[in-house]
Amino acid sequence: MNQAFRGYNMNSPRFLRTSAVELAPREEIGFECANGHTFFIMFALEANFPTDWDCPRCGAASKRTDGTVGEVKQPRKTRRHWDMLRERRSIAELEALLAERLAEVRKERG
Ligand SMILES: [Zn+2]
Repeated sequence: MNQAFRGYNMNSPRFLRTSAVELAPREEIGFECANGHTFFIMFALEANFPTDWDCPRCGAASKRTDGTVGEVKQPRKTRRHWDMLRERRSIAELEALLAERLAEVRKERG
């Protein structure tokens, strides 16, 4: 069960647009099938957005109406300072740096 669908009436097709209560951050992706049916699917922002989907009305393969094909839009992930730091330094390096800094601070404080 995708978190983005929480709050939907499970007795109705979850593909239908409903006025849902406040959900997790999400994005609505439009699709159009080979027979011209358009529909929208909600995806959690953390999810990878598919570029095709089966039409809920006729089952035909559908493409995204925003023209995105064969490419997965990456979710907007917030990079924390720590994440960026870890891309540049190993834990061993960070520990060495920390030890160095602590030694300096202790020296300054006498
Ligand atoms: Zn269709």
